[in-house]
Amino acid sequence: MPNMSKEKVKMKEQDPLLRIKNFDEVTCGYTLEEAMEEAGRCLQCKTRPCVGGCPVSVPIPEFIKEVSEGNIEEAYNIIATENRLPAICGRVCPQESQCEGKCVRGRKGEPVAIGRLERFVADYYMENIKKDVEKPESNNKKVAVVGGGPASLTCAADLAKKGYEVTMYEALHQLGGVLMYGIPEFRLPKGLVQTELKSVTDLGVKVEKNVIVGKSITIDELFEEEGFQAVFVGSGAGLPRFMNIEGENLNGVYSANEFLTRVNLMKAYDFPNSPTPVRIGEKVAVIGGGNVAMDAARTAKRLGAKEVKIVYRRSKEELPARVEEVHHAEEEQIIFDLLKNPVEIIGEDGHVTGMKCIKMELGEPDESGRRRPQPIEGSEEVMDVDIVVVAIGQTPNPLLRDTTDGLDVNKRGCIVVNEDTMETTLENVYAGGDAVTGAATVILAMGAGKKAAKAIDEKLSK
Ligand code: FAD
Ligand code: SF4
Ligand code: SF4
Repeated sequence: MPNMSKEKVKMKEQDPLLRIKNFDEVTCGYTLEEAMEEAGRCLQCKTRPCVGGCPVSVPIPEFIKEVSEGNIEEAYNIIATENRLPAICGRVCPQESQCEGKCVRGRKGEPVAIGRLERFVADYYMENIKKDVEKPESNNKKVAVVGGGPASLTCAADLAKKGYEVTMYEALHQLGGVLMYGIPEFRLPKGLVQTELKSVTDLGVKVEKNVIVGKSITIDELFEEEGFQAVFVGSGAGLPRFMNIEGENLNGVYSANEFLTRVNLMKAYDFPNSPTPVRIGEKVAVIGGGNVAMDAARTAKRLGAKEVKIVYRRSKEELPARVEEVHHAEEEQIIFDLLKNPVEIIGEDGHVTGMKCIKMELGEPDESGRRRPQPIEGSEEVMDVDIVVVAIGQTPNPLLRDTTDGLDVNKRGCIVVNEDTMETTLENVYAGGDAVTGAATVILAMGAGKKAAKAIDEKLSK
């Protein structure tokens, strides 16, 4: 008899007033007993609607059944057939619009906590079971993947499992992409990311770090000089957008990308033990309303800022960030200064001292379906701030486009692909993840990497 409770089993979290003083993970995960109880809420639907909501098709009812019986190793093995990064996905997937959004239990209560269960299985496996991954036998075919983020990692893992000799080229000194340099430690612990990445490299994937494809080596050279038969490009969308307003070049203005990279990858919070400081003021304004803005604001708070504001031009209903992230930010005393748009950053002696904003009101819905924000004339006012973090989106870096003849991109700078195969306008060059969609999600990047791996295998097996 399933557990018919309408609510998910609660997951413990660090107290908000304690956690704003540390970088430890906010959520604490389930115990075995809690996980088994939550797994008991799954109805084992024959039509598996939840699986249809998962871009990498994790066999959800099957792994949950094993959890309900306490067979965690078996549950892990079932997940790993489709997803080698379950501890990461269980934490950062927007489950509410993916797997859990399709769960039938969500019709009359809360859906089954698929993400929390997936995270539990992965954490439990890593702590208590972890077995060495067997390196598959080589099929003597070589594939290069560009970038070490979730799209490339998934493509590399799926191909390596089939015996391909995969080499991953990463521009930075660490694999993981945004998982390492963007998403903060308090949402996604970096030790855990490294452990999951190892489950990919243990499949025999060769890693070349500090190599910028398009600069150190071109895509053409990967084919002609290195003998690769296919290339997958998962280079992400790492180029920050700015507002192009006066004062944006003042000291004290960061892109969210730079701000978070300094803190996550370079551990600026541990300066002078780490090489990079980050200047944090008394009053920080973060411009934008997505997950990146929430991460930057919550990071600024932990670095010691007295007052942190999210400045967003629409209202709370339109905030693109996950509901859970907004809730956590509110608990952490982040102030939401909504329906405001910056028009000028004001400075003295080259440093930010304030930000002029205009009030906005919402008009008719635009092409995105959200109500269009319109400025209210004459409503400008100056906000007292000394640090501004701009988190209004990222686009793909143009480097690969500029150094690869015939690689078409659209007007947003995203690589054009055939959506069935992820092949680009160049034969045997595939692409996926943020480089193709623009800034999106980890699981969509992974789904694209998976699709490309399947197409590469079909092509090279002919
Ligand atoms: P990336 O993760 O960007 O990885 C690309 C990699 O390629 C990088 O390591 C980069 O250094 C490397 N690279 C780039 N160019 C080259 C080159 N020329 N040569 C070699 N290497 C190169 N998504 C969620 O699902 N949930 C969240 O909660 C979430 N929060 C986020 C928070 C922040 C702060 C940010 C920035 C993003 C967040 N996202 C979230 C989005 C998500 O992280 C991305 O959609 C996802 O990482 C995209 O994966 P990717 O593999 O396409 O690219
Ligand atoms: Fe849900 Fe993400 Fe897991 Fe798929 S990978 S089942 S979308 S949490
Ligand atoms: Fe279980 Fe929900 Fe999937 Fe049904 S839809 S199998 S209840 S997780």
